Amino acid sequence: MENQYQCTKKVHSLVEQLKVGLKKNINFTVQNTLATKLLQCIFEDMIQMRASKINLQPDNNDLLMYQYIDGILYKYCTCDKNIANTLMLNLKLMAKLETTKKYLPQYGQFSLDIASCIIDIKLSILPFKHGEAAILQFFDNSKNLKKLDDLGMLNNTYARISSLLKKTSGMVFIAASTGQGATTTVYAGLQDLNQTKVKIINIADPHESHQLPALPYIEQRQTNLNTSLNHELCSALTQKPDVVSIGAIQGDKELVDTSLNAATRGHLILATLHAVNTVASVSRLVDMGVKLNLLSMGLHAIIAQHLVRKICTVCRTTYQPNQQEKARFNLLFPSISLENKILYKGAGCAHCHHTGYYDRIGIFEVLILDKALKKSLSNCNMALFKELAQKKLLGYTLQDNLIHLVFTGTTSLFEAQRSCYFNYSY
Ligand SMILES: [Zn+2]
Repeated sequence: MENQYQCTKKVHSLVEQLKVGLKKNINFTVQNTLATKLLQCIFEDMIQMRASKINLQPDNNDLLMYQYIDGILYKYCTCDKNIANTLMLNLKLMAKLETTKKYLPQYGQFSLDIASCIIDIKLSILPFKHGEAAILQFFDNSKNLKKLDDLGMLNNTYARISSLLKKTSGMVFIAASTGQGATTTVYAGLQDLNQTKVKIINIADPHESHQLPALPYIEQRQTNLNTSLNHELCSALTQKPDVVSIGAIQGDKELVDTSLNAATRGHLILATLHAVNTVASVSRLVDMGVKLNLLSMGLHAIIAQHLVRKICTVCRTTYQPNQQEKARFNLLFPSISLENKILYKGAGCAHCHHTGYYDRIGIFEVLILDKALKKSLSNCNMALFKELAQKKLLGYTLQDNLIHLVFTGTTSLFEAQRSCYFNYSY
């Protein structure tokens, strides 16, 4: 955890006012007004610092606040624990949650005008030993949805993904670990597909993904307490859509079976899956009990992706790696030499809050199943499937994409080493 990002003086001042007010037993309305002001200031800080999430976590004595910026957890503020109850109460009021139940997990969402932008905030509250903890996730509606060519893909990757989205049938998985941008890629793909000639239905689980902003030709449905993704998919298929996007597959074999069957009958089905790379995705589906024969018939392609931090372009500098760095690099990437290589890093500046990084970029690998790969699956020969897939991916793996970003100065060697956990299970 880093300490570069700190809360503003305004937040400190409001925390103090609320703390003192609570000690003096100020009335309920004044408490709530102060808490609302404090939350608004915290949210303004979050937007200003480009945070995607904030975590409010009580411990024995304090209320600790952390924020996620470019996927990294930073300490934001440590407050008096006495203000925690008032803040939680106000968050629940904002999200119209049950205010009297303190021992139940609760989920909700609300929208706020923060710094002239309408921000949607998803709230999750969970009780722990020292009290309730809250996670708030921010979605800026003023930012346009990204298109595929906004995601920083290499030309080759972009061409392959564009072409496979033009297919009229088959299942395409977008595989990534949690928080690694798979949903963004799906929505970027839907944006590219969004035209009158294609009927698209997007089905979302409200806890898993943020709702796709209204787009003219995409019909949207959300699951609720009474419906599952599988139920929604079966209903959607009766409308004979060309493309269905079904959100995250969470170990639901029935949903995968329905999707793969539909994919053999003239529908392009898109889904996200928690897996670290393309080959591991197939293993994960097999572990879920999906039959290899069905996969061979319905699965068209897997896109695996991962996000890495970009070096801040304002303070980017070059350097030559020392012996220690070369040795560490060789452990992870034994086939690549750092001899005579110039590398890049961020020196730290006000623009990047002295972290050396600003924003993230995706690295990708795309495995399109050809006849040989499909045959290895239909013959239930996973060993051969892995061997053929590795050969097909040679030069185009997540790791190859990552190394390219290191040598072109988009990301740093440190970031590459930090995030290179995806290649262990090829
Ligand atoms: Zn900088």
